[in-house]
Amino acid sequence: MIKTQLEYKSIATQGVFVEVNESYTTQTCSCCGLISQSSPKGRAGLRIREWTCAECGTTHDRDINSAKNILALGHKRLAVGITRSLGG
Ligand SMILES: [Zn+2]
Repeated sequence: MIKTQLEYKSIATQGVFVEVNESYTTQTCSCCGLISQSSPKGRAGLRIREWTCAECGTTHDRDINSAKNILALGHKRLAVGITRSLGG
């Protein structure tokens, strides 16, 4: 338990996440893929409409950045391969 928390903390302070989780799409910079120190987080983050990534300096609209990240996740999954047909 303590070990897990320490690992999480060390990852969070470095601002580097190897895997992008869908729940982080608002916080992750769609440009450099990092969760910046300046990105909107938690309840306070809900009020932030626009933010600038401290890692690469890109200014994001929160919703557009989130949409880009979701899109990127979708593309990644397509690249891996979806067995289900997209036809209709
Ligand atoms: Zn960035």
